[in-house]
Amino acid sequence: MLSIDLATTTAVVTGGSSGIGLATAELFLRAGAKVAICGRDEARLREAEGLLRELHRSARLLAQPCDVLDPAQVKAFAQAVQAAFGNADVLVNNAGQGRVSTFADTSDEAWAQELHLKFFSLLHPTRAFLPQLERSPRAAIVCVNSLLALQPEPHMVATSAARAGAQNLIRSLATELAPKGIRVNSILIGLVESGQWRRRFDSRDDKSQTWDAWTAALAAKKGIALGRLGRPEEAAQAIFHLGTPASSYTTGSHIDVSGGLARHI
Ligand code: NDP
Repeated sequence: MLSIDLATTTAVVTGGSSGIGLATAELFLRAGAKVAICGRDEARLREAEGLLRELHRSARLLAQPCDVLDPAQVKAFAQAVQAAFGNADVLVNNAGQGRVSTFADTSDEAWAQELHLKFFSLLHPTRAFLPQLERSPRAAIVCVNSLLALQPEPHMVATSAARAGAQNLIRSLATELAPKGIRVNSILIGLVESGQWRRRFDSRDDKSQTWDAWTAALAAKKGIALGRLGRPEEAAQAIFHLGTPASSYTTGSHIDVSGGLARHI
C-alpha cells in the first residue's frame, strides 16, 4: 500500500508568492516537505512567506526573489536551495501570466515576449535545478500549463500558440530525462480564481452581483461543465499528485484541471 513520507523531500515552486503556486507551496508544507518559493515582487513574496509561516510554525521554507526569465537569478536561487535544503526533488514550473490579444492586435514584439516567457520560464529553472534533480531518488518536474495548449482561444492567440509549444517541449523533456529518473508532467488548467479574475470582478458593471453569481455567469458563458471557476488549491492537488510518488509510473502526461471545459476526448 502506498505511504508517502515527504520529510526528506524538497519542493521548489516558481511563482510561489500567489495563487496556484502559493497553494502548492502550502500543500507540500502541510505534507511535511521542505519548500522553496520565488517571485519577482519582494513585498508580495515576504507576505506569502509570512502567511505560510503562520500556517506552519515549524516550516522549512525558503523564499527568494527571482525572475525566472533571468538565468543568473535562477542559478542563484538553485544554489540557495541547495545550501538550505541539500537537494531539490520536485520542481514546479508555475511562474507566468497570460496575454489577452487577437492576431490583429498582437505586435511582433508581443509575440516575441510571449514565446520567450512561456518557453524560458520552463527552460531556465529546469536547467538550473537539473543537477539536483538528477541526484534525487524521486525526482519530478510539474509544469503548470493551460488547456489553451490543446484548445486555442482566438482572444488569446499568442498565449495559446506558446502554450501548445510548451506542451510539446514538456513531452520531449519527459523522454530525455526519463533515463535520469526524472518524471516530467503538466497540468492543463482552465479558469482558476486568481488576481486577474478578482480585478475583472471589481470592475463589473452590476455592482450588486456577488462573486459567486458573477463567476457562475462567467462559467456558463465559457461552457465550464462544473459551473464555476477552479480554486488554486484544486490545481495544487493535481500538481501534488504529479510531484510525488503517488504518480510514480506517470511521465510525459498531463492532468486536466478545467472543470469540464475541455471539448476533446
Ligand atoms: P498569479 O498571478 O496569482 O501568480 C503568478 C505567480 O507567478 C506570482 O507569484 C508571480 O509573482 C509569479 N511570476 C510571474 N512572472 C514571474 C517571473 N518572470 N519570475 C518569477 N515569478 C513570476 O497567477 P495564477 O496562480 O493564476 O497562475 C499561475 C500559473 O498558471 C501562471 O503561469 C498562469 O499563466 C497559469 N494560468 C493561470 C490561469 C488562471 O485562470 N488563473 C489560466 C491558465 C494558466 P511576481 O509577479 O511577484 O513575480
